[in-house]
Amino acid sequence: MPENTARLRVCRDCDGFPTVAITTGQRTPTGSRHTLTVTCRACHGTGTHPAPATRREVTA
Ligand SMILES: [Zn+2]
Repeated sequence: MPENTARLRVCRDCDGFPTVAITTGQRTPTGSRHTLTVTCRACHGTGTHPAPATRREVTA
């Protein structure tokens, strides 16, 4: 029987990579690249969505 503990699905919008760093092309005074961190709006940075509305609650 397959392991079915995870009831979350990978976010379709970010494909499971909810936070990405975007390079602005500028350099910080310290010489490193200046980046912006952007969080996926669809999943709010979790990378997953709750399982769709098929209710399969096991109330034992
Ligand atoms: Zn997402």
